[in-house]
Amino acid sequence: MNVLESLTRRALEQPELVAHEWRGRTLTFAQLWSRATALGTALERSLGDSREPVVVFGHKHPDMLTCMLACLLTGHPYVPVDSSLPADRVRSILTASAAGLVLAPEDADRIGETPPGTVVWESADLERVCSPPTASDASDGSDAGSSSPGAPRATAPDEAQYIIFTSGSTGTPKGVQIARSSVDRFTGWLVDLVSGHVAFEGRRQATVINQAPFSFDLSVMDLMLAWATGSRLVHIDRDHILRLADLFTTLAESDADAWVSTPSFADLCLASDEFNETLLPHLRIFLFCGETLPHATAARLRERFPSAAVINTYGPTESTVAVTSIKVDEQVLRDHPTLPVGATKPGSVILILGPDGSPLPEGEKGEIVIGGDTVSMGYYRRDDLTERAFARIDTPAYTGWAYRTGDAGFQRDGQLFFAGRLDFQVKLHGYRIEIEDIEANLRELPGVLQAVVVPRYAVDSPTTVTSLHAVVQPTELPTGSTLSATVALKRVLRERLPDYMIPKTMSFVAEIPMTPNGKADRAAVAAMTA
Ligand code: AMP
Repeated sequence: MNVLESLTRRALEQPELVAHEWRGRTLTFAQLWSRATALGTALERSLGDSREPVVVFGHKHPDMLTCMLACLLTGHPYVPVDSSLPADRVRSILTASAAGLVLAPEDADRIGETPPGTVVWESADLERVCSPPTASDASDGSDAGSSSPGAPRATAPDEAQYIIFTSGSTGTPKGVQIARSSVDRFTGWLVDLVSGHVAFEGRRQATVINQAPFSFDLSVMDLMLAWATGSRLVHIDRDHILRLADLFTTLAESDADAWVSTPSFADLCLASDEFNETLLPHLRIFLFCGETLPHATAARLRERFPSAAVINTYGPTESTVAVTSIKVDEQVLRDHPTLPVGATKPGSVILILGPDGSPLPEGEKGEIVIGGDTVSMGYYRRDDLTERAFARIDTPAYTGWAYRTGDAGFQRDGQLFFAGRLDFQVKLHGYRIEIEDIEANLRELPGVLQAVVVPRYAVDSPTTVTSLHAVVQPTELPTGSTLSATVALKRVLRERLPDYMIPKTMSFVAEIPMTPNGKADRAAVAAMTA
């Protein structure tokens, strides 16, 4: 599957189809194409022959797509950064990506101080360069193909299409580079999977729901699906999640065919009785990834949406969104109190390795290691981290480049089962968080000597984290209420970390127990707070 080629053809043959819809604003495929090619020309003029990364900053504005496409057309890996991140975090991504240019279709005022030499193109700058030369160019798509996907400047198959920054255990985010060929292969598999449920070439244009921010690789699933199939992408933004009435109006108006979200977001919707087939009568598929799909969530979706397939998929950003899938039907629900994450997609290889790196027999729990044709080339400019997590492996089942996920799992009857983490990474409401990232940032706050963060798990889904609790050893124990000390600490932590990384509760202790080798004793701390 060549996504760029499909998109180019769509802009040429069905220019009036809506590519993006968000709070009443739409962008047709022709407009997307014409704005992106105009922006691409400006990028070429400004960045010359370089193929350096470009940061795309914002939330769900239509020109987020324009900017990403312009980067793809001109061979610059795009680095999507959500505007909900605090300025400190944005700055560390800007530094780590070494991007000299930030495209900010919205919220440019949230970028904060940039590293020296960084140029920001705000909405007014983008408007100037994206405007097509004539009004007719914008509407008839006649310039589609003027920068063909085979053009020498477009991202080559073995070059990074995007770099997504995820939480890093040292307190600094790390950038996962994904090659264009990996995106194309993943998308080819995805389109086959979804085509079994949604008719993309029918008279009715299909609609896909996007919930994840572009900085989370789950969004690659809906964005590439929409670009490859000519579907309308309807966006849910962070304010929708705060105002459910608003969310349900948008959902009803979307009349969506396909849904891509975290299971946590589906749970949020399921809390309302309104969330059923009457609200979304054309919905035929739910696609989940990024965290455990609880049995109860899948069962409730099957009841409320009898015509929609519920698909659980599994994968890390480091192997292009997802590498397994399973349709969770009544039989699967009956057979598995804990749902499997599915069978491996063609082109990917899953191995379960023991602590010594040797493959374990079927049914035995070990580390999930992913090989095959969608594994990342490594972390951007971090050979040290790449060496730790990626390697060429040589086993009877697979020889080649592979990623050690840090996930525990086992395989049985062709199905992969996720069994928690082997390290201190967690998923909270779909967000990937290194517990040590929060701890490192807590320790840097004035008045904090030591901190340990403990995840709390759901009673009925033992791999689902429901909240985080921080145990803090301050220089001086709070004299007033713990609550006001917690509020004060959260306030300063928010300047460094995104909201989803702020522990919900905190306690303060005179001393954090240590292990004999001088590390914080997590097991003892967890026991203290249980
Ligand atoms: P991310 O890179 O943000 O997509 O996070 C990848 C991690 O999310 C994986 O390594 C798993 O720990 C977790 N994950 C992804 N999909 C699933 C799933 N279907 N069930 C359980 N955990 C998942």
